[in-house]
Amino acid sequence: MKKKEVHLDRFHCKGCGACEEVAPKAFRLDDTEKADFLGDDKASPEEIEMAANICPTKCIEIVEQ
Ligand code: SF4
Repeated sequence: MKKKEVHLDRFHCKGCGACEEVAPKAFRLDDTEKADFLGDDKASPEEIEMAANICPTKCIEIVEQ
């Protein structure tokens, strides 16, 4: 099975909070209203994929290694 890695482009994050809403175990807004990726060990791959799809600026990318 290929390993998947999550890339978060914080520069283009506009702090809408949608990723945190659908995958709160993987994403959290920090003090500067930018999303932080907390790791993919607690959230399901489906949740992370949903966050990537829902992000309005498409700054969450799931990369297959
Ligand atoms: S959904 Fe995208 S733009 Fe919105 S907070 Fe998350 S990473 Fe940032």
